[in-house]
Amino acid sequence: MEKIHVKDKDFTISIRNEEIMKHVEEIAKRINHDFADKDPLFISLLNGSFMFTADLMKLINFSCEVQFVKYASYEGMNTTGEVKEMIGLKGDISGRIVIILEDIVDTGITMKHMVETLKAKNPKEIHICTFFAKPENLQVDLDLDYVAMNIPNDFIVGYGLDYDGYGRNYADIYTVVK
Ligand code: 5GP
Ligand code: MG
Repeated sequence: MEKIHVKDKDFTISIRNEEIMKHVEEIAKRINHDFADKDPLFISLLNGSFMFTADLMKLINFSCEVQFVKYASYEGMNTTGEVKEMIGLKGDISGRIVIILEDIVDTGITMKHMVETLKAKNPKEIHICTFFAKPENLQVDLDLDYVAMNIPNDFIVGYGLDYDGYGRNYADIYTVVK
């Protein structure tokens, strides 16, 4: 499909799944190289990163653990950097090497809060792996260790990303028609 309609907006195709998959393979290659003997814990942030996580994890070639967490969006966070845990981590992550899997980093505020929340649980290292980043919008100091694709500041859906809950199911990425 070249065009989709999600709720009250029109979107046009901008990144095809074949291109997405090439970038997933590049990221997998780097992570396989960097963490093969390090027993990292992958922590995937629901909902947005479910599709990226599934594609990436199928290409990780060492035995590893993956968990899914869900935190309330940053509108609901208070000033201390605490976020509301909707689905939490199982077990202790102290001393672990953690790789956060995220769909998109925009301003970076959500990810910054996520990192602070995980830091309080005393992991040994925290690495960030995001499929998309919008570098023009980054407002906080964050080291994005693995970014599959940098994109311009346009609103997108598909590949796990939603508009008001809809549109996550598409394998390709669509950009809103302004
Ligand atoms: P940040 O805190 O980095 O500004 O926001 C990150 C969150 O905003 C993402 O996890 C995602 O939920 C949402 N977001 C940012 N840009 C987009 C976009 O282009 N499309 C969609 N669907 N969500 C976005
Ligand atoms: Mg998200």
